[in-house]
Amino acid sequence: DSELKNQDLQKITELMDGFKASKALFTASELCVFDLLHSRPRLDAAQVAQEIKASVKGTECLLEACVSLGLLKSKERPCQKPMYENTDLAVRFLRSDAPFSLHGYIQHCNNTIWPLFSHLESAVREGTNQHEKAFGKISKDVFQDTYYNSQEVKLRFMNAMHSIAKVTGKAVATAFDLSRYKTACDLGGCTGAMAYEFTKAHPGLSVTVFDLPAVVEMSEHFHPLQKDNRVSFVAGDFFKDELPKADLYILARILHDWPDEKVHILLRKIADACTPGCGLLISEIFLDEDRGAPSRGLLQALSMSEGKQRSATEYSLLLKSHGFIAAHVRHTDNFLDAMLCIKV
Ligand code: SAM
Repeated sequence: DSELKNQDLQKITELMDGFKASKALFTASELCVFDLLHSRPRLDAAQVAQEIKASVKGTECLLEACVSLGLLKSKERPCQKPMYENTDLAVRFLRSDAPFSLHGYIQHCNNTIWPLFSHLESAVREGTNQHEKAFGKISKDVFQDTYYNSQEVKLRFMNAMHSIAKVTGKAVATAFDLSRYKTACDLGGCTGAMAYEFTKAHPGLSVTVFDLPAVVEMSEHFHPLQKDNRVSFVAGDFFKDELPKADLYILARILHDWPDEKVHILLRKIADACTPGCGLLISEIFLDEDRGAPSRGLLQALSMSEGKQRSATEYSLLLKSHGFIAAHVRHTDNFLDAMLCIKV
C-alpha cells in the first residue's frame, strides 16, 4: 500500500495542474495568439510579444507552455530563437474564425466561469451561485440579471452558446429520424446555430427560434452567410408567454438550468401546446444512472445557479408526468446527448 505508483502520482499531478493548463489556454486565446499565428505563421516569441502588446519574457513562457500542452509547435533553428505555429488542434478549434471555433466558449470560461470557480468554497458552503461575489450583483435569474444586463456580456454569452451549438449541432440534429415533423420550435434557441443545423439536416423542416427579446434583437449578428428562410425568430419568455405552434419542440441545454418546479412549468406549457404524436427533443449532458460520470457534467454543476444535472431516467420521469414518453436516447460522443420524446 505504501508503494508510490507513478501512474497515481501522474493522475494527481494532472488534477492539481489542470487549472494552470486551462488558464494558459484561456490567456493565449484572449490575447489572440492562435489568430495571429494563423495569419502570420512562424513568428518568434519577440515578434509575437510585439503583436499582442505583451512582455517578451511573459510571451515566451506562455508560448512554451502552449507547446507543452499540444496547442502550438515550435520550430528550432540553429543559433536563433525558435519560431511558433499552430498545431492542428489550434487550427481546428482555437482560431476565432474556424468553422468549429471554441473561441467564444473559451472567452466565456475565462470571463464568467473562472471568476465563479474562484469562489467555489463559498458556493459549496452556501449552496448558492456566487455571482454577487464574482460580479458584484445578485443574480436571481442568471440570464436576465447577469448575462443580458450589459451588451458586452450578452454578446460574449451568445458567442459562447453559438460556438458550442455549431460544434455539437449536427450530432444532435442527426441523432433521430425526424422526417415526420414539418415545423419545429427551438425553445431558448439563442443565436439560431442549432436551428440552422436542424434545417441543414432535414430539408422538409422549418424551425422557429424562441428566446428572450434581448437575445432575439441580436440574432442578426449570428446569421450564417447563406441565410435560410426556413429559420425564423420569435421573442418571448417561455415561462410566461404563449409558445409558437410546432409539431416538434427542441430544448437544447435548457432544462439543466432550472430546478424541478420551473421545469414542470415549462413542460406543462409545451404539453399544452402539443397534440398527440408531437415530439420533444431534449439535448443535455446525460449523467450516468449512478451519477458517477461524466465529469464534464458534474464539474459544470459546481458553477450552475438554480439548476441541476440529471440522468436520462431523471429527465424521462419529469417528461412522463406531462404525458411524454421517452422514445429514444442517444449518447452522441459530442458535447451533448439527446432524447426524443413523443406526446401520447
Ligand atoms: N439552446 C441553445 C443551445 O443549446 O446552444 C442555448 C442554450 S443557453 C444555456 C439557454 C438559453 O435559454 C439562452 O439562449 C437564454 O436566453 C434562453 N432563456 C433563458 N430563459 C428564458 C426564458 N425565460 N424564455 C426564453 N428563453 C430563455
